[in-house]
Order: sequence, then structure tokens, then C-alpha cells
Amino acid sequence: MKNHNNQTIKKVVILGGGTAGWMSASLMKKVIGAAVDIEVVESETIGTVGVGEATIPPIRIFNQVLGINEAEFIRETKATIKLGIEFENWKNIGERYLHSFGAPGRSSAFCQFHHYFKRAQQLGLKDSLWDYDLNALCAKAGKFAVINSKDPVLELPHAYHFDAGLYAKFLRKFSENIGVKRTEGLVEQVQQNKQTGYIEALVLKDGSVIEGDLFIDCSGMRALLIEDTLKTGYENWDHWLTCDSALAVPSERFDKTLPYTRSIAHSAGWQWRIPLQHRNGNGLVYSSAHFSDQQANDLLLSNLESKAIGEPKLFKFNVGRRKQQWHKNVVAVGLSSGFLEPLESTSIHLIQSAIVRLLHLFPHQGIADASVAEYNKQSQIEYEQIRDFIILHYHVQQRTDSDFWQYLRNMDIPATLQHKIQLFKESGRLFRDQNDLFLDASWLQVMVGQGIEPQDYHPIANNLSEAQLMDMLTRLKAIKHEPIPKLPSHDEFINKLCNR
Ligand SMILES: Cc1cc2nc3c(=O)[nH]c(=O)nc-3n(C[C@H](O)[C@H](O)[C@H](O)COP(=O)(O)OP(=O)(O)OC[C@H]3O[C@@H](n4cnc5c(N)ncnc54)[C@H](O)[C@@H]3O)c2cc1C
Repeated sequence: MKNHNNQTIKKVVILGGGTAGWMSASLMKKVIGAAVDIEVVESETIGTVGVGEATIPPIRIFNQVLGINEAEFIRETKATIKLGIEFENWKNIGERYLHSFGAPGRSSAFCQFHHYFKRAQQLGLKDSLWDYDLNALCAKAGKFAVINSKDPVLELPHAYHFDAGLYAKFLRKFSENIGVKRTEGLVEQVQQNKQTGYIEALVLKDGSVIEGDLFIDCSGMRALLIEDTLKTGYENWDHWLTCDSALAVPSERFDKTLPYTRSIAHSAGWQWRIPLQHRNGNGLVYSSAHFSDQQANDLLLSNLESKAIGEPKLFKFNVGRRKQQWHKNVVAVGLSSGFLEPLESTSIHLIQSAIVRLLHLFPHQGIADASVAEYNKQSQIEYEQIRDFIILHYHVQQRTDSDFWQYLRNMDIPATLQHKIQLFKESGRLFRDQNDLFLDASWLQVMVGQGIEPQDYHPIANNLSEAQLMDMLTRLKAIKHEPIPKLPSHDEFINKLCNR
């Protein structure tokens, strides 16, 4: 296989000091820091996006690998606990469900829980799936603690809401302490090798030259290296995900902080509400074909429920992905690599998995075609799987109040998603595609929550007698409910960690 660059990679330059830049710097330094020098170049005059407050459970692995103490992290980033996302008005106005990080019930080796549940429903059971989900029960009760049990039925997976600006600062301090070099400066010019097109150096406004062997483009939506310089191209998905704008504004905190994100659909998009320790994060995601920025601004401010802190900040975005996320000696990480709206809080996770992927394929001995191709293949699959999951929310619904929802319900969807929905509708079967970030329990909750009723269940669920089935469900429900009265409230948990 052709090796484009026989030089060993000794110096990695990261352009950008947002969440992507500092997550990349900290993890790379921690894992391969003995072999490579790492320098972050960022410009305070440009600043960062600064939003990105809701995460998913793998962020905990990221922090653990860095050796970050959870209590310190929660204090420093003003974080709260996130057990899932509540979707309101998504299936239809007035209806709601939770996509929790947990899993309803307990599955057996060949038969997932929801097949037993479906049979029980046909026999007259009135419960909801979420009566058997510890995350959902704790979210609704506003409770949380780390449950130390080896029994998977009592797992309570969690992620965080945090202040993204504070997280980047936290990681910057961490990175600098372990030897990452930071340079403040505005990149004005990019030097490329005339023969290969490889990037050789960044030239800053003050004339200084930052040379490197491998460049990580964390310059945000500007995509200064991967697009402006290397012209990699972009695949647009706005025919499936038609929202192209967002307004974000913090507001004063509520007395009680919920341990979950709220996502409230409106006539042409949705609004998020994210509780932090010191404030609420709010934002309105919308389609500019249906709402002017002024209308969106008015809607957001009228739905806040607590006093706004400052003026809403406007974001315009293209939903889609960079055609090649690794090209020549540039790897795009973060917003430079693509954008999927924050409906399932996946952007920060995409940063994490991009760096992990790069570390697995790190070109210590020079950049080889096969590694680049593998990286790009995996990135494409990951983006497309998350895209499908987000489209599911918009496509499967019963709203008739606007053209926006009617279009989304009637549009053609990716064949991969069409197949998944059809399979579930016909037979209740769910299979996890290879390495899909979202497990069966996530697909199940959103499919059921958005209104898909499977026509059938797996016949293994008939192996129990009716009495055995009902007894199993009664015992399972009791096990799931049992810890809740003993748990502290979410606020008590946070206050204790923060010594308040
Ligand atoms: C409205 C909205 C809501 C979001 N909500 C969530 C969420 O809830 N959960 C989630 O996981 N993600 C969310 N995201 C995504 C998340 O904010 C980003 O993935 C994350 O912040 C990473 O951004 P970044 O570091 O790639 O880019 P940025 O934050 O834009 O950072 C870019 C960096 O590049 C530097 N830079 C750019 N040009 C130059 C130059 N010429 N010279 C020197 N430096 C330069 C800047 O100074 C900056 O440091 C949201 C995004 C948006 C737009």
C-alpha cells in the first residue's frame, strides 16, 4: 500500500480551542503524548461556539480515561445529571415520552423484554414500557445516586448537562498540565507542499509559523483546513433534516433541577431546555423556510419560563457531513467534520469517537491510504446511523398542524431507516447495526414513543404461561421501583458533591 508520507509523525497541530480542540488535545496527549508533540492554536478574537450542553453516557468513559474525578468535573463545569431526554409534542401535540439511557425490563438471551411486554399488553396489561425502566422512573421522581449493584437490572446509566465553555477551559488546564503547548493567534495563511498538497505549516497574523506533520482541523464550521484549504466537499442532508437555524439563550435557574433534557416540538422545529447548576440552557431549532429569525426569537423568549440572561445568539448550519473527514494530512474533528442537530446530543460524542478512531489508526510511521480509507468509512457509517436515528423522530409522528410536519411524515427516508422501521412494525424485531451508537433500547423507546405499534411479538414470549408472564412483570416492576424511595433528590446529590 502506498505510503504518502514516510516521515514519522512527531508533531500534531490542532487548529481550534473549542470543545473539539481541547478534547482532541487532552486525549491524544494522554494516550500517545510520549511519542508526539501536540500544539493547539486558537484565536480568542474568533471565540468558540460555546453551546453544546447536553451529552450522552460515553462522555463518562472519556473523562475516566483522562483520570478526571467526577465530583471535581461536576463542580468545575456546573454540571447536572442527565438520565435521558423527554420529547414533548413530538408524536402529537400534548403527548410526551422519555428516551432514557436505560433499558426497559430485562431481556432474555433470545427474546427482548418488549416482546413479553407486548404479549402482556394484549392480555390486558395497562402499564407503559417506562414503568419498567429505572432511568425513566428516577427522571420522573427527580432522583439520582450512583447505584453500586452488579445486577444489570439496577443499572442507572447517566451523562451530564454542563457548561461547554467551562468544559473547554477545564480540559485546556488539564492538557497544559500534561504538556500540550497552546499558542494564541489568528491563522491567516496555510502553507502546502507544492507536490503533495499536504499542509506543512500555519502562518499566524503576527507572522509566526507553526509547522506540523499531522493537522487536526477543529476550527469549527469555518473548516479552515479540511474545506477552505483542501476542498474536500460536503454531503448535505437538508432534504431529510430541514432545520437549518438555531437561537440559544441562557435563562435563570429554576429552584429544582431536572435530571433530564427537555425537547419540546413546535410547529417548525423544537426547543431545548437544559438545566445546569447556575442557569438553564435554552434554544430553539427551526426551519428558516417556515420561521423568520424574528419569529423564532419571539417564540423562544415567550417560552422560557425564567428570565433570559442576555440576548439570544443565532446559529446557521448545514446538516450533513464532510465527504472525507481525513484527507491528506488533515483530520477534521468537531463542527469542521459535519453537523447533526443537537436533538440527541451527539456532537460532543462524535468528537470523542473521532479522536478514539484516530488513535486506533494513528499514522505513527506515515500516512497510508488504507488507514485513511478505514477512518473515512467508519466515520461515514457513524454519521449515517446517527442521521437515521434523528430522522426517525421527525418522520414518524402524527402532527397535522403545519406543512413542516406533514412534509417530514410523507418524505422518502433513507433505505436503511425504512428497513428498520418496517421490521419493527411487522415483527417487533430490532437489531443493532454494527457499532451503532444507539442500542436497541434507544430505538425501541423512540419508535414506540413516536407511535409505532408492532403488529406482532416474538413467539418465545409464549413460552411462559399467562400467570408466569404476569408474575415476572410484577416482580420486575417491583425490583425497578424498589431503590427509588431511598435515593436522594437530584439537587441533594449535586449539592452534596459540590459541598453545599
Ligand atoms: C445551536 C447548537 C447547539 C448545540 N448543542 C449541543 C449539545 O447539546 N450537545 C452536543 O454534544 N453538542 C451540541 N452542539 C455542538 C457543539 O457545540 C460542538 O460540537 C462543539 O462545541 C464543538 O465545537 P468545535 O470545537 O468544533 O468548534 P468551535 O467551538 O467553533 O471552535 C472553533 C475554534 O477554532 C478557532 N479558530 C477558528 N478559526 C481560526 C483561525 N483562523 N485562527 C485561529 N483559530 C481559529 C476558534 O478560535 C475556536 O477556538 C451544538 C451546536 C450548536 C450550533
